[in-house]
Amino acid sequence: MTGPEPRPPTPPPPCPQPDTAALHRQLETIEDDLGFDLDRWQRDARRIEAAAHATGDEALALRARLIQADVRHRRGDSAAAAPVLWTVNRWATEHRHPHLTARSHRLLALLLRSIGDNAGFLEHAVRCVETLPEDATARQRAYPLMMLGDATRGGADPAPSRARFHQAEQIAAAHHDHQLRVMILNNLASAELDSGALDHAATAAARMRTVAAAAGINLDSHSPYLDTIANVHLAAGNYTKAATAARHAITTYGADGWEQADALADLLLTLARAQRHLGDHDDAQRSLDRCRDLCLRRGLGWAHARQLYEQSELHAARGHWQAAWENLKAHHLADRDLMSGHREAQARTRQVLFETAEARADAERFREQARRDPLTGLRNRRYTDEELPHLVRQHPDNLTAALVDLDHFKQINDTLSHQIGDRVLVTVAAILTTAVAADTDGFAARVGGEEFLLVLRDHSPGRATDTLDNLRQAVAHYYWPPLTGTLPVTVSIGAATCRRHSAAQLLAAADTHLYTAKNRGRNQTCLDGAPVPAR
Ligand code: GH3
Ligand code: MG
Ligand code: MG
Repeated sequence: MTGPEPRPPTPPPPCPQPDTAALHRQLETIEDDLGFDLDRWQRDARRIEAAAHATGDEALALRARLIQADVRHRRGDSAAAAPVLWTVNRWATEHRHPHLTARSHRLLALLLRSIGDNAGFLEHAVRCVETLPEDATARQRAYPLMMLGDATRGGADPAPSRARFHQAEQIAAAHHDHQLRVMILNNLASAELDSGALDHAATAAARMRTVAAAAGINLDSHSPYLDTIANVHLAAGNYTKAATAARHAITTYGADGWEQADALADLLLTLARAQRHLGDHDDAQRSLDRCRDLCLRRGLGWAHARQLYEQSELHAARGHWQAAWENLKAHHLADRDLMSGHREAQARTRQVLFETAEARADAERFREQARRDPLTGLRNRRYTDEELPHLVRQHPDNLTAALVDLDHFKQINDTLSHQIGDRVLVTVAAILTTAVAADTDGFAARVGGEEFLLVLRDHSPGRATDTLDNLRQAVAHYYWPPLTGTLPVTVSIGAATCRRHSAAQLLAAADTHLYTAKNRGRNQTCLDGAPVPAR
């Protein structure tokens, strides 16, 4: 059958490669966002994670996963967020990825704060500051300092907390980051309120307003800021101003937007408190009724417990003691139930963190075991294969590898027993361990049946010769008779100093010198002085 030549199929158009640098920048924008557009973050982070998997960019994928975990945490599911944060943190630490390390510490700090673990909050805030990369943005540097201010608030001495807020504010101010500056001043004012430093709280709140006004930032855009201002007035006894500020905020948030529901309840309580102090008991009751309805409709447990407490205060102010007492009891019951629920949630998150850490520790133990020789406890060949190339790269001119081989070891086995042979190996291993003990980067490994490797760093060739020959003598002069009777135990050592060659070349050179030492009659050290051929 004849017909037109089949045309070769048209190759599919090349798959467009995502621009990973652009994706990293997009993630940075989300990470630096001080807003609450959680749906968009989630969507973008999912999309970027998928693109990252397609290009095999693991760091990018983990960065996107951190954002998704952050969203989960902000939505209240800290138990789901915890293992992600923890795992990424370990990965980043191991792979020396400063951005991911600092970022995961920051999110771990916030997570631990939300479950009431203040020590953990402080620890991870500190680690975040310590691990920030050189090229961190101003916001990335200022934010964790603000967290440190928050983490140290309420201490006997307010100075350290104030100093952190001050440092954070200076960075934000120097970079004209007015939004962050307003947030820092808000947190400072709230910290000062908590510790009862009302003058300082008022100053910080006033500065927050000034900065916001100068930068054209509408404080109404963020209800917690308005609540701080109202509370500063309340604490200072400026009840009229407190009521005005709270009322203004409530009008702004009258729509009861879900995200703001909790904040609106807080503002209604602040208003009720101010109204009670002003003697406007009916108005105060109306504010409280509205707050209670909101709490019941939205399921705002904590705000409801606070509402019950304020209700008892209002009844007491009116002289309705029985009603005040009933509300106080209801408040305590609600508070107790919430506390136990909260503790359960805390315990779940802690458990998840603990299990993740345990699984990690198990994996690490297994990894460690797999890299040790079970008989002598020294490092093994697998460890050597992994570690030596790193060391050679790090110290291309400054590394000595020595092969240490027992002389006529077969004879010990044959004449005495395999068990005695084993004990000799263990003893020689202990002597080797002592020889490298002071060398932080060096190590001793058992790389064959009766063959060991010693890696020494920071040893000039002269010093290496001394160390190695002392070692050879230490073996020869060890008091062996209890173990081997009249049979001597000695070693031959062949060593090479790194001269910009690979790990394999270094070991091959050491092996050649070991062969020389054996040929020259054993129980001796042969260290390469001549240059080894360059790679
Ligand atoms: P040379 O001086 O040339 O190194 O002679 P040698 O006898 O030490 O070397 P050879 O390679 O001929 O023999 C090594 C012996 O080491 C053979 C083997 O039975 C013994 N050996 C290897 N692994 C172990 C072990 O784990 N325990 C014991 N007891 N003996 C081992
Ligand atoms: Mg031998
Ligand atoms: Mg051997």
